[in-house]
Amino acid sequence: MISIYNTLTKSTEAVLPTEQRPIGIYTCGPTVYRRSHIGNLRSYLMSDWLRRAIESTGAEVLHVKNITDVGHMRQERVDLGEDKILAAAVAEGRSPKEIADEYTAMFFSDEKALGIIAADVYPRATEHIPEMLSMIQKLIVDGFAYVVDGAVYFSVDAFGGYGKLSGNLASQLLPKDPSEIDSRKRDPRDFALWKEAEPGRSMKWDSPWGQGFPGWHIECSAMAGRYLGSSIDVHTGGVDNIFPHHECEIAQSESFYQQRHTNVWLHGQHLLVNGVKMAKSSQNDYTLDQLQQRGFQPLAFRYLCATVRYRTRLNFTLRSLDAAQKGWLRFRKTINSLDLSSDIVAKDRDQMRRYRSQFAAHIQNDLDLPLALSTAWAVTKSEISGAGKLALIEEFDKVLGLELTSYDEGAFPEEVLELARHRFDARRDGNWIGA
Ligand code: AMP
Ligand code: ZN
Repeated sequence: MISIYNTLTKSTEAVLPTEQRPIGIYTCGPTVYRRSHIGNLRSYLMSDWLRRAIESTGAEVLHVKNITDVGHMRQERVDLGEDKILAAAVAEGRSPKEIADEYTAMFFSDEKALGIIAADVYPRATEHIPEMLSMIQKLIVDGFAYVVDGAVYFSVDAFGGYGKLSGNLASQLLPKDPSEIDSRKRDPRDFALWKEAEPGRSMKWDSPWGQGFPGWHIECSAMAGRYLGSSIDVHTGGVDNIFPHHECEIAQSESFYQQRHTNVWLHGQHLLVNGVKMAKSSQNDYTLDQLQQRGFQPLAFRYLCATVRYRTRLNFTLRSLDAAQKGWLRFRKTINSLDLSSDIVAKDRDQMRRYRSQFAAHIQNDLDLPLALSTAWAVTKSEISGAGKLALIEEFDKVLGLELTSYDEGAFPEEVLELARHRFDARRDGNWIGA
């Protein structure tokens, strides 16, 4: 049984399936107007470890990770800025679809390089407009939303629980600059579910209120509802998603379904650079390919993330990544040079059981990857036979996802690889003298 710190209740809670069905995870996925940076990827590593941890208990998972390809505004507040995808399309002189497709493909390849298991569904916002429209229509009918000109706003006042996730009080939610308040809103806290298309806008859809496009928050409510139903077991994202995005998602979904939207809210802390959140807009971001160009392997970044708990900020430096890469390569080398000549014996099995339950306890305790990793290191230094160590590390690696038992061929010259292959074959065949 996995326990996770729940942002909503501020306590650690068990993740339990509510019915005879897989545990549903919804992860707020990338906005595909640029390549994800490694800060974004840190948050997807967290949800991958969650998935693997749940599966290691024998439970099944249904993982949904959306692709935001419209409606995410440049500013934090939907009513101010311009659409990130459209802005990128204009800047690059290409169509929004070309932009979205290119960066979606890059996202998939970055996830793969980091050993992130593909989600079961990657719904794209632009392919779920009908679901969004019917959700908005019901919210209007039920008195939770109202239409002004071609736009639809959610009425925060109509939903009693606004602020329960972020802890923001009504007074804190008002913009500091009165000129930022959209005069069409009945209450400055209200947010857009649907916006009318500005003249010349290319990404727009017909709606009962004229041509327009959805707000970012309604996308996730609609796609989560479509694939996971009225209630989600675990919903994940970075801490910057807590407000306004997830607060608004709760308001929409709970008003729509009239029941608790998400059981456990899991939020990952940020990756920083010199103490500042990594972000494209701060120009302090690194992408995975930039790290590769500097000689780093993607899994070295995964290893680095595993050395810090997800609720702790992680200050990124190339030096710490270098140390992580060395640690990761040393681990793999240690496993690769194990003496596999003797079988697993009864004495081994006792110790293996102890390490196995230690490892599981760390993982199940709010994903304590650093302690789980140190248990894995302790195994390599233990009295267990080589074959026993290999078997245990193979098991642990199903959760860690660090490819600890495979050998990295690319890093060595061909003659060395040739020798290594001969030695591997000899060991496999029990030819110890030859090996
Ligand atoms: P975006 O593509 O901007 O919508 O962000 C995708 C995910 O990355 C969201 O869950 C964000 O909360 C998360 N995120 C953004 N910046 C960082 C960062 N510096 N460190 C960790 N996660 C981040
Ligand atoms: Zn979302």
